[in-house]
Amino acid sequence: MSGHKEMRAIRVANHGGPEVLKIDPKVPVPVPSDTQVLVEVKAAGVNPVDTYIRSGTFRITVPLPYTPGSDVAGIVSKVGAKVTKFKPGDKVYVIRNVSGGYAEFTVAEETMVGKLPTHLSFSQGAGLGVPCYSASRAYIKAKDKVKPGNTVLVHGASGAVGLACVQIGKAKGLTVLGTAGTKEGLDLVLKHGAAKAFNHKEQGYIDKVLEATNGTGPDIIIEMLANVNLDTDVNTINKGGIIVVVGSRGTAQIVPRVIMYKEIIVTGFALWNAPPEEWVEMHQVISEGLTKGWLVPSVQKEYKLEEASLAHEEIINNSGTTGNRILIM
Ligand code: NAP
Repeated sequence: MSGHKEMRAIRVANHGGPEVLKIDPKVPVPVPSDTQVLVEVKAAGVNPVDTYIRSGTFRITVPLPYTPGSDVAGIVSKVGAKVTKFKPGDKVYVIRNVSGGYAEFTVAEETMVGKLPTHLSFSQGAGLGVPCYSASRAYIKAKDKVKPGNTVLVHGASGAVGLACVQIGKAKGLTVLGTAGTKEGLDLVLKHGAAKAFNHKEQGYIDKVLEATNGTGPDIIIEMLANVNLDTDVNTINKGGIIVVVGSRGTAQIVPRVIMYKEIIVTGFALWNAPPEEWVEMHQVISEGLTKGWLVPSVQKEYKLEEASLAHEEIINNSGTTGNRILIM
């Protein structure tokens, strides 16, 4: 049980660039309510959305000051009176918390906490939340196209969400094609179960994707950078296919007629909008992946808590992605 009253945490007092992430050594340790779990954080996941919220220009706003971060892994320190699934000492991962993840302690609703399997490190556990649940939700959005024999193109497969999309797609019996921007990324995408990997920085790579599907195009495209690729996607997808937009950082121009004559669906989602029944489905998929061992996050780089601003800088500006960026307490 935590005897700590104060903790180190990153605090954002004003919106702005990565430099607004400041370490504060005297933040009060949060107190769990009856339905909440207090977790001693060992590792915290850094996601692109953390940088959008920090900048203050995103549609999700958080009252200032705040501690960023939703995904953590650590050890249960205390549980509320109505918590039934966890006890102090349990190793857990958290998908969403209420007090901030870039901190030595965080509180989360019991429903947003899962048992960390022994074969995963705390850093890998901190990569399960937003990336893996988003990947799982992408397949919910792809509906009946998700069936053995069909093909999915994970457009941006070397990142945290993309690698989870590769693993889940393979487990669902799909033929997975993935893209990455470097040799290391391509190797990792293949290692995670893709049948073929293509370099999205190489001229003409989409022709190779089409060749790999005998000219028909993939039945599903899960898109990480729609502002760059949506036009290519609508022209590449198979007739009747579904494009799921997961990420976009700007505007895109397409010829809508393609949507009509190919009868395709272009959809998207924001993870936190998921209705309860989709959370149930996502929990099932993630739990199966952890139990059977096919869902394993890949950690690209670990940073000290004090280096949160460097992590924010690198997740947005560096290419050559190979998985998750993680803060270590
Ligand atoms: P990440 O780990 O930084 O990965 C980014 C991925 O995009 C890498 O695979 C990168 O490949 C790839 N990429 C770069 N240029 C590309 C291009 N021209 N075409 C295709 N892919 C390209 O980020 P993440 O955590 O996986 O998240 C991916 C995106 O999804 C982000 O924009 C994030 O904000 C968004 N997202 C949305 C939701 C939601 O609820 N909708 C949830 C989670 C994430 P290389 O570095 O190898 O070039």
